[in-house]
Order: sequence, then structure tokens, then C-alpha cells
Amino acid sequence: MPERLRVCALYPELMNIYADRGNLLLLRRRCEWRGLGFELSASGLGEPIDAQQADLFYIGGGQDRDQRLCALDLAQVKRDGLHAAAERGAAVLAVCGGYQLLGHSYQLGEETLPGAGLVDLRTVRAEGPRLIGNVAIEVELEDATGAPARRVLAGFENHGGRTQLGPGAQPLGRVLRGHGNDGASGFEGVRRGNVIGTYLHGPLLPKNVWLADWLIARALGRQQPLPALDDTLEAAAHAEARRAAGI
Ligand code: GLN
Repeated sequence: MPERLRVCALYPELMNIYADRGNLLLLRRRCEWRGLGFELSASGLGEPIDAQQADLFYIGGGQDRDQRLCALDLAQVKRDGLHAAAERGAAVLAVCGGYQLLGHSYQLGEETLPGAGLVDLRTVRAEGPRLIGNVAIEVELEDATGAPARRVLAGFENHGGRTQLGPGAQPLGRVLRGHGNDGASGFEGVRRGNVIGTYLHGPLLPKNVWLADWLIARALGRQQPLPALDDTLEAAAHAEARRAAGI
């Protein structure tokens, strides 16, 4: 049986704006190009998740109205499974609306949506303009040898919610260009072990394949670097995203 990556997409129909589903396609291709198997499952409304069913759990961005539908389900139906998955070292990638729902709550005026409580953060839909534009952040994550590697993630953000990290949360990166979590703190995203939350669309992974490979390696628990691929086109997409962000 060849090594295979099992990915579970949460609410793939509801939580998929800016073609965030492209992140899943990219993961599939990078596995298949290396001779690794790839299995995709989905977990929609009303379906609990089993911590053992996947190595990587994914949730994309969403409109407020779709987040409303998913928030209760995430907090009530999927919460325990997702916590158990993260506890056993499965990777989690959450983008924008999905990122917001990983925290304790998302407050929209009088209404407060619950979150999965997987990371210590809260999001508030405050008065003021949406935070929109190209964005670049500096990120430090370990490479396969465990040594810290500093890289730039580049993408696009469009969110009304402002996210505040609690004292127990570590940001994913430092904002080089753009708004990030709240337009003021200089932080972007969150990282807890193999759990990553970020506001970056792009889709994120095709423009930042280094992060895709980091997720694959962590999800599979690999100690060795993944075999290199010809990333000429991917490097060009990354360079273009950086140029768009002005760095
Ligand atoms: N609806 C959320 C907000 O506006 C998330 C948007 C998104 O996923 N792009 O803050």
C-alpha cells in the first residue's frame, strides 16, 4: 500500500469563496506527482468527524450567511472530532471565514456565532471598511529537519471581521504588506502545532507551494523532506503574488 494523504474538506459547498477549493486540487497534484496516494472526503452539515478519518482537515472561506450555517454545526457536531484530530497531530488548514470559525466566536452586531475553540482567538465584525487587498506576510515554520525556515506567504484578503489573538495564541506571521488579522496588530493568522489559520486566499497553496509541502509532510508525520518537484510555474505564481503585494 503506497503512502497516501487523506484529506477531509469541511463544508466544501458552503465554505469555498475565491476558489479556495483550489487548495485541495493543489494538494492532490503535489501528492500524485510524487507517487503518493491522495484521498478526499467531505464532511457537511450534520456529519460528525472521526479524528482518525483524515491526516489533514481543510475549511475554506465563506460569506457571513454561509458561516452562520456552519458555525453551530462546527461547534456542536464537529468540535470533539476536530479537537481529537488536532490532538493526535493531524494538520488543519483554515482560510478566512474558516479561520474565523476555528476560534471561540465570531460576533456580528448583536449576534455571536460560536466557533470550534481550537485556537485562542475571537473575531468581531466591527464598523469600518472591509480589509481588502493583496497581502504578504513573513512566516517562520520548521523545515523537515526541524530547523526554522523563514518564508513569505503572498495572497489576497477580503474580510469584514477583525481577529484578535488571545494570550494563548501564536500568530502565523508578521504582516509585510496588507492588513492581516485586524489591520492594526501587525499579525496575520494563527499557528498551533499543525493547525494553521490564515486570511490569505489566492487560492493560498498554489501561490505558496512551500506551505502545501509543509502541510503534507506534517500531516503524514514525515521526518524526511518530500521529493523536490519542478516548481518553475509555481515560483512564477508566487513572484507575481509578491509583486502584486508590492514586495
Ligand atoms: N465573511 C467573513 C468576513 O467577511 C469571511 C470572509 C472570507 O472568507 N473571505 O469577515
